[in-house]
Formats: sequence, C-alpha cells, structure tokens
Amino acid sequence: MAKTMKAAVVEKPGALAIREVPVPEIADDEVLIKIKYTGICGTDWSIYTGKYSADKLPLIPGHEFSGVVVQAGGRARGLKEGDRVTADINMSCGTCFYCRQGQKLMCRDFHQLGIHVNGTYAQYAKAPYENVHKLPENLDFLTGAFVEPVSCVIHSSKAAKVTHGSSVVILGAGLGVLHGALARYRGAAPVIVIAHNPKKLAIAREMGADITISLNEIEDPVAEVRRLTDGRGADFVVEAVGKPETYEQALEMVRPGGTVVAFGICGGDDTIKVSPFDLVLGEKTIVGSCAGVGTDWPDAIALLAHGRIKPQALFSMVVPLEELEAALKQLRTDPNLTKVFVSSEISKREILSK
Ligand SMILES: [Zn+2]
Ligand SMILES: [Zn+2]
Repeated sequence: MAKTMKAAVVEKPGALAIREVPVPEIADDEVLIKIKYTGICGTDWSIYTGKYSADKLPLIPGHEFSGVVVQAGGRARGLKEGDRVTADINMSCGTCFYCRQGQKLMCRDFHQLGIHVNGTYAQYAKAPYENVHKLPENLDFLTGAFVEPVSCVIHSSKAAKVTHGSSVVILGAGLGVLHGALARYRGAAPVIVIAHNPKKLAIAREMGADITISLNEIEDPVAEVRRLTDGRGADFVVEAVGKPETYEQALEMVRPGGTVVAFGICGGDDTIKVSPFDLVLGEKTIVGSCAGVGTDWPDAIALLAHGRIKPQALFSMVVPLEELEAALKQLRTDPNLTKVFVSSEISKREILSK
C-alpha cells in the first residue's frame, strides 16, 4: 500500500493546490476507500472561495463520491476489500440531545466528509464503516458518485410530504430537475419547473416535469404560477436556487394552506422579507431540508439502481484531479455545464454529454 497520495488541497481561500499527502490512517471502525469519481458540488465552490468552512483549512474537499474499499478496520462489520461503495457524509456524536432524537443533522458535533473533514478529491479517503453503503452491481461508479445529491433531494421530498394530485412548483433546474422527478413519483400533478436555462428545462421535462417555465420568456413567475393553478398558487413550492429573491417568490406563489420547501442554500447573512400577516392568515408552512441522511441513502441507491431516476442527462464531463480548480471556475461561467466529475485516474477530460 502506498504511503502517500495525490490530493487537491484548499490551503486558504482561493488557493487550491495538488499535493502529495499521507494516505489517511484508519481507525478500527473506519474503512479506507480508493476513490473512483467525485462530483463537483456548489459547496465545493463555497469552500474554495472561503465562504464556507474557512476555519477548517487546509482541507481536501469532495463529498459526492464512489470508490472501492481497500482496507477495512477490525470493527468494520459487513465490509471487505473490493466492495464498491459510496458513503453517507454526515457524522455526528450519537449521544447529544439531537442525536437521541434521531436528528443527526442538528448534532452539536455535526461534521461532514469533504466539508468539515478531509474528503474525496484525492486518491484515497476514509469513512466510518456505519456510513458506508455498498453499490449494487448494476450501479456504475459514475452514478454511484451521484447518490449524495439524490439523497438530499429524497430527504427534502420526505419532509415536504407531497400528496397525490397536488401541484408542485420547483424554482431552479439544477437539482430542481430531481425534485421534479420525485414529485412526479409521489403523484403530484402538475409538476412545474421554473428556470432560465433552456437546456436544463429540457432535461427537467425529460425527467418528469409536466410544465416548464422559462424566465427568459415571462415577466412575472408568481403571476404565471397563479395562472396555471386557477388563481390560487401552488400546493407546494420547492426553492432549489438559493437566492433571497426566489425564496420571496416561493412564499408568494404558494397557495394559502400550502407548503414551501427550503432547499436552496443562501449566504449565512442573507435575509428575506416575509409577511407575517400572510403566513398567519394563509396558514402557510415552511419546511427546511439540509441533507440526505440515514435511510435517504439506501432509498437513493434503490431509485438509481432501478432506473426510477436516470440522471445521466445531467452528466457533463469527467476531468482529471489536476483540473479541479479550472472546472470549479468553468462551472461558474458556463451555464450549460451541469454535473462535472473529477477522477485521479485519468489524464485528460472525458466529455459525457453536450
Ligand atoms: Zn454536495
Ligand atoms: Zn450528537
């Protein structure tokens, strides 16, 4: 076993370097994983720019991944060398008030792989065995690296409790297209996705949206949603953009008695205008949804393995680890890029879909 490995390290905000670093040493209850692919996520940009986890630098980011177990600790039950895996990135203490409530994501000692501790933009990474999930044979490594975002959307879908025949509006067509797919499986009708990018709206339709609204073609999305819902507003609105103005729109376009699902991540200091009058008299509900955790992971794996969710249209390209920084920047400027994966096993870019 090699003692050192190649890794992408964010050393300080805006400074990312490819370094030779020690291979992580595992404890008894951990496994060492040889990383196949890591998907680039908006959170990685926030870490790179110092908006997020700046106090944790230097850090190897990367949390949407697949790989193969190369070493299992003595207490890592049910896992062995050669297992194809991904891992729930959420780690908690297990004994605090929130952990006892089953609300692991609220744990006072909450930390996530690749966000608060070293992650998977490297040749190897370690994870607690209890967090590791095996990938079924028919789930390829690329799709395996997409389990994490799907688990987040499943978590949000469970929180929303969308009912049959209810109208669901999704603001945003990044992970919004997955929200559309899941809303359809929960029996929603119509499923409406609102975004700017025509290519992403086409993918949203392919993945289950009944109606897509292009923000390039209409003035007022709130009025458009009311028009499509007999003037009431939608039963459910999912904010999957992460901007204060779209949160305000979500609260305006949900019908009285309806539910807004808070999914998109804004800045820590961002605030929105809410009408308490409208909340009270309209009996509107807002539910937050932070990450995929626990059973959301096997659920995501099952939906992907059985082709209920076919995310391949979202897969843009794979870049070598050395091009991570360039790809992070390219994702900010090229609106047609959707999911970009990183691999330490290739030396030049592989284009997956245009
Ligand atoms: Zn992510
Ligand atoms: Zn805890």
